Amino acid sequence: SDHNLTYPASPAHIDWSTHYPAFAGTGKTPEFADVGCGFGGLLIELSRQFPETLMLGMEIRVQVSQYVQDRIAALRTTHSLQPPPTDSLPPSDASPSTSPTPGPYQNISIVRANAMKFFPNYFPRASLTSLFFLFPDPHFKVRKHKARIISPTLLAEYAYALKIGGIIYTITDVEDLAEWMRVQLEGCVLFERVEEEELRKDEAKGKILDAVIGGTEEGKKVERNGGKKWLACFRRVEVARLA
Ligand code: SAM
Repeated sequence: SDHNLTYPASPAHIDWSTHYPAFAGTGKTPEFADVGCGFGGLLIELSRQFPETLMLGMEIRVQVSQYVQDRIAALRTTHSLQPPPTDSLPPSDASPSTSPTPGPYQNISIVRANAMKFFPNYFPRASLTSLFFLFPDPHFKVRKHKARIISPTLLAEYAYALKIGGIIYTITDVEDLAEWMRVQLEGCVLFERVEEEELRKDEAKGKILDAVIGGTEEGKKVERNGGKKWLACFRRVEVARLA
């Protein structure tokens, strides 16, 4: 249950510097959101590949979200204790023209939150470039379908938070859920399907796809068990207004 959780009244009420102290003063807000991030594998996988991009995981389970928080804190500490490789040090008299990228894992964080109720409290309009729904809970029974994380109402909230051109990545090992998500997203005018092959023409999106498919704990489990994965990606598109 999420009754004892406190939520920010709006994204403007969030002090992101508590999540990303190394980015304080940059004005940056999260651009990647991992909904139901579980043990945080995607965030950790992508952190070093996109060191300038802030990423936020949302996870409803107390112990799991605490675990991810501790995991990120430990990674930050471990990596801040290591000296940088000597060949990356600037000559002593050189003053770098831009501020250096903060150390690894400074750009990832997590909130314990029920994303189905409070997603808009965290992400302002057109702030996200990537939104992840990776191996979401299937809720097999028909009367439980309303508990699924992709629905017409929720899609409007996700569309609002995404930049035009931003991508929703979905993947599941449950065929029925794959079909459900596809139907919801294809039925929404704010999104268009985009094939994996097309996304891979962009190197950054190729890296993201690799992490989506194989970088999460659930994805690895499905692989170990020889399960099939259904991937479907959708681009946030602009809708022409009626005059
Ligand atoms: N994405 C991760 C992965 O691929 O390893 C975890 C997948 S796990 C099957 C689904 C996760 O979604 C669980 O950790 C669950 O607690 C979380 N979850 C379910 N409903 C949620 C909600 N409404 N808000 C936030 N997290 C939720």
